[in-house]
Formats: sequence, structure tokens, C-alpha cells
Amino acid sequence: MRFNVSSIGDYYFCPRKFYLNKKMGFELFENSFEDNISGLLDELKSRDFSSPESKFVLDATKNILSEFGISFEDTSAFSMSFGRMFERDFIGNVLSGRIDELLVIGGRAFPIKFRFSKSTSENIWQSDKMEMLGYAYLLSKNFVVDKTFLFLLDKRRVFPINFNSISETQIENLFLRMIKTMKGNLPRIHANSRKCDSCSIKKECYHLDNL
Ligand code: SF4
Repeated sequence: MRFNVSSIGDYYFCPRKFYLNKKMGFELFENSFEDNISGLLDELKSRDFSSPESKFVLDATKNILSEFGISFEDTSAFSMSFGRMFERDFIGNVLSGRIDELLVIGGRAFPIKFRFSKSTSENIWQSDKMEMLGYAYLLSKNFVVDKTFLFLLDKRRVFPINFNSISETQIENLFLRMIKTMKGNLPRIHANSRKCDSCSIKKECYHLDNL
């Protein structure tokens, strides 16, 4: 089986959502994220920092680099790549993902993901955190990875998320559960109705239970 790292976030948010999308082919109708991200990546690649989003990304990236005593202008000390695809095998399955922004400083890599959607709280969802750990897991095959950063563009905030051997085991266990779910029946409706209220396929999901 092949899984995208974004599926980890979907699965952690709700196994039924993951199943409806991956096994039954339901579209998730997430907002125009793809359009937003490609526009932002184009701006960042061409070093066009004129939009408020790209200006925020520039400033936040500068702050991260300054923690290492590196200036953004000193491009010999770090490298950045945008929208690069990575893959990693896991017991005969493949985990893949496209990293929005990747900072490489020495042998250490820092995956960065941009969130465009409106945040409903001051904190991040656990599912976002697990997705970021999934990116760290994916990259830890090629780099030393101990920290990832989630940029919330609507709030102009950056959340650092640490990655260690415990989180590596968490991701592998989650991955095993995802594989098992794919082989089973449609999971039940999630017990947390707040999640359902913010879910893009609530109508279709609930309709299935009324058939
Ligand atoms: S509506 Fe609720 S149970 Fe259904 S997929 Fe969405 S979060 Fe899961």
C-alpha cells in the first residue's frame, strides 16, 4: 500500500474519514489549499516576499535560522527546498510526502508545513502534530531530524514540534493501525461531535449510516 503523510493527520483526526477517502474514494473538499500552497511556493521559490503570507514565512524562517546564529543572506550555511517529494518504505508499504519547506542546516533537516485554513483554537490539533511527526519520520531516513515547524498562516504563528525515538514508535504504530483499518470495515462515527462539526464530509458520512 501507498500512503501520503497527510493521511496520518486524517487518520488521527478520524479513522472513518481516512477510510472514506482512501478506501471509498470520497473527496475531502478541503478548501483551496492546493491553489494557495502552489501560489505561495512559487513566490518563495522566486524569492518574492511581497504577499503577507510570504513575508510572514520569510520572517519566521529568519527567526529559526537566527537560533543557529545563521543569517538568511548566508546561503552557504543552510539550504532550503520547497515542495520536494520524499518516500520511505515501511514493511513492504510506502510512505510519501511533499514537504512545503525544508531547511537543511549542517546534517540536520527541519521540515516546515504551512497551514492556510482558519484555526479554531489558540493551539494546534493533535492530528496536525501527528502529521508533522510523520514528516519527521519520513525525512529521518535521509537526515538527522529532531524538530519540525508548523506555520499557521492565518494566525501568523509558528509551532515547533519535537521528534524523538518515542515519536518514531508512535508513528510506526499509527501506520500499522492505518494498514489494519484499510483491510477492515468502515469505522464507526467518531465519538467527538466537535470533530464532525468541522469535518468537510460530515453530510456524506452521516448519510451512510442512514442507508
Ligand atoms: S463526520 Fe465525523 S465521523 Fe464522519 S468522517 Fe467526519 S469526523 Fe469522521
